[in-house]
Amino acid sequence: MQKTPITVAYGDGIGPEIMRAVLRILEAGGALLEPEFIEIGESVYRRGHTSGIEEKAWESLRRTRVFLKAPITTPQGGGYKSLNVTVRKTLGLYANVRPVRSYEPFVATKHKAIDLVIVRENEEDLYAGIEHQQTDQVVQCLKLISRPGTERIVRYAFEFARRNGRKRVTCITKDNIMKLTDGLFHKIFEEVGSEYPDIQKEHMIVDIGAARLAEAPQRFDVILAPNLYGDILSDIAAEVAGSVGLAGSANVGDDCAMFEAVHGSAPDIAGKGVANPSGLLQAAVLLLVHIGQPEAAARIQNAWLKTLEDGIHTPDIYDERVSRKKVGTEAFADMVIERL
Ligand code: NAD
Repeated sequence: MQKTPITVAYGDGIGPEIMRAVLRILEAGGALLEPEFIEIGESVYRRGHTSGIEEKAWESLRRTRVFLKAPITTPQGGGYKSLNVTVRKTLGLYANVRPVRSYEPFVATKHKAIDLVIVRENEEDLYAGIEHQQTDQVVQCLKLISRPGTERIVRYAFEFARRNGRKRVTCITKDNIMKLTDGLFHKIFEEVGSEYPDIQKEHMIVDIGAARLAEAPQRFDVILAPNLYGDILSDIAAEVAGSVGLAGSANVGDDCAMFEAVHGSAPDIAGKGVANPSGLLQAAVLLLVHIGQPEAAARIQNAWLKTLEDGIHTPDIYDERVSRKKVGTEAFADMVIERL
């Protein structure tokens, strides 16, 4: 079988540490990949590119159409654009899929039996990047919800549920207040949902939805949400399941896909060799399935699960009640490779 070219970025903060560990596991696990490395993030922003990405990186992305990306640090202040938002919009990555699981009894968790997937609309809503200075006292951010964009993400969520044997889709909005924008999202959920009689449908207002997700995450199956709510809900879900360091995500479009951990560049622990590479590894497993290498994906996922089961844990998930050995990033990768 031929190697599949993919674009890879080491990112900022803990990015290079966790990416090195993940690439070692992928290679040892028999993934047939031909990585093309691009530079994005802090160093590119410093060279004066306000988007954090240069033309030669876009060329690679347009060629490979598959992107494994480590987290980057978004510069604070005006003038800079979020690289993540730019990449998602430019490549048309309209669906952000974030699976969240708990791994009890092997990883300490506040809640047991969590197995949910968040499907987040990824291009519209308050992240469309339309902000105005109206007067020196008033600023405005436009919330954009379109029928075609919403129909596409709602259909994606129901098709995803069907393909993956999931039973229920919960749509989360705030349509009691934002009657037109969130109202349209909810309405299309009901319309498109009626084409899927085999899948249960429910709707929750975001405040109570977030409260229930924090209190009883095990009751959720697939959660569908507009961009901002989906972003917030997925951090809540990952954290109550054990650690933000454990969850990976896929950003999917019709032609391209980008895979990344849900967490950021963690500057507080960067360079210490203690970051958990699991979130990025989970993203890489989703990538392998996407490019048609399910055997390598399963092999790596099983070795990773066995490592967690054996109590070999990075500090973010280390808990004396369930863990046996505290290890850093590289040693964790070695332990996964031993179990392949
Ligand atoms: P963060 O996710 O980087 O860190 C939050 C907390 O979780 C920190 O205490 C950190 O040490 C811990 N943590 C995160 N990942 C971990 C891992 N793999 N192993 C162990 N502990 C881990 O969030 P933040 O501090 O709010 O953001 C830092 C930077 O990352 C910001 O510049 C932000 O804009 C950026 N960011 C980037 C992405 C991305 O590239 N996709 C996503 C979110 C945030």
